[in-house]
Amino acid sequence: MSTLASNPLAADTKLGPVSPWGISQRGCEPLNPPQTAEALAMIIITRPNATEDQIEHIVSRIHGWGLRAEVSRGEMRVVIGVIGPEDKIREKPLGAFPGVESVTPVLKPYKLVSYEFRGMPSKIKIGNVVVGGKEVVLMAGPCSVENEDQIIAIAQAIGKAGAKILRGGAFKPRTSPYSFQGLGKAGLQLLAEARRETGLPIITEVMDTKDLDLVGEYADCLQVGARNMQNFSLLREVGRTRLPVMLKRGMAASIKDLLMSAEYILSEGNFNVLLCERGIRTFETMTRNTLDLNAVPVLKAETHLPVVVDPTHGIGIRQFVPSMALAAVAAGADSIMIEVHNAPELAKSDGEQCLLPGEFADLVSRIRGVAKAIGREI
Ligand code: PEP
Ligand code: MN
Repeated sequence: MSTLASNPLAADTKLGPVSPWGISQRGCEPLNPPQTAEALAMIIITRPNATEDQIEHIVSRIHGWGLRAEVSRGEMRVVIGVIGPEDKIREKPLGAFPGVESVTPVLKPYKLVSYEFRGMPSKIKIGNVVVGGKEVVLMAGPCSVENEDQIIAIAQAIGKAGAKILRGGAFKPRTSPYSFQGLGKAGLQLLAEARRETGLPIITEVMDTKDLDLVGEYADCLQVGARNMQNFSLLREVGRTRLPVMLKRGMAASIKDLLMSAEYILSEGNFNVLLCERGIRTFETMTRNTLDLNAVPVLKAETHLPVVVDPTHGIGIRQFVPSMALAAVAAGADSIMIEVHNAPELAKSDGEQCLLPGEFADLVSRIRGVAKAIGREI
C-alpha cells in the first residue's frame, strides 16, 4: 500500500487540483509567475443582507473574466478577494453588482497575505487539527527523527500530554556538513508509523525542491525552515501543492520579509500557510536567538494567517523554554511548537534545548491556565 493511501489525514489537502501548471510538472517547467509586478488584489465587501445568489453571481462573473476570487465568510458579511492583472481588474465595474457594499484595493505589498484580503483570521487544517481558531494548538516532538523507539515513545508521550501535532525532522538543515543530516526517507517512514500509532498528524521540514514530492507523500504539514525562508523557488513549489506549509522566519529577516515570503506561496494558489516566529539573531550572546514576541501581535494585525511561535529555537536553552512558551501564548500565538526528547543527552541534534516529556506535560498544564486567562483553550 502506498504511504499516501495509508495517510487518510493528509489525503484531502494533499493533491487537490494544483495550479494550472500542475503538480506533475514540478521541476520540469519554467516557473510561471501568475502574479506579475502589475498584479492587483481588490476587496469586495458585501452588504449584511446580501443573498447567496448575489454572492454566487459576483463570483461567477469574476471567474468569467479570467480573474481569481477568494471568498471568506464572516458572521455578518462576505469578503471576496479578487486577484488578477491590475489593468484587467480596474476596468471591471465591481461596485455595480447588487449586494456589494464596498470595493477597495489592497495597497500593502503583501496582498494575499494581508489581513484585509480576508477580513478575518484564516483557519488552517492540518490533518484533523484546526490552527487559527480559539484553540492554541500544541506541536511537539524531537528536533530530528532518530530511530523507531525514539519517535514512537516521544509521539506517545506528547500526545498523552496534550500535543495535537507531532514534529520531527527527517531532512535537517545543519550548520556543519559533518553534523547529523537526518534520516531522509527512512525518517519520513518512521514519522508515518508514529502517526499510525498515535493518530497525530505530522509536520516535517522540506529543504529542497527535489525532495518535495517525497516529503509531500508523508507530511500533513510541510515546514520551510528559517534558512530557507527566502528560497523563492522552494516557496513557489510548495505554493503549487495544497499541503499546509509552516514558514519559519529567517534569523535575519524582518517581519515584512516574512510576509513577503509567504506571499510567494499564496500567489501560487496555496492559502494553507502558517507563519512561525522562531527567534532572530541579535547582539545577545546569552541565548541562542532572541525570540521576537513583538512579531506576534504585529503579525496578527497584518495578516489573516495563523501565527506559530517556536520558543525552543527562540531561546535555545531548556530551562528557559517554558517561560517563553507561556509568554508566546499570552502574546496571542495560535500555536506553539516545542522540541521534546526522551533522552536529550543522546539527541543527535538540539539536545540542549529540548524538554523532557515530563517537563512538557507540566508546561501544557501551565499553558492551559494562560490560554484560559486570555479567552482561549488548549
Ligand atoms: C527545526 O525546527 O528543527 C529547525 C531547524 O528550525 P529553524 O529552521 O527555525 O532553525
Ligand atoms: Mn531543532
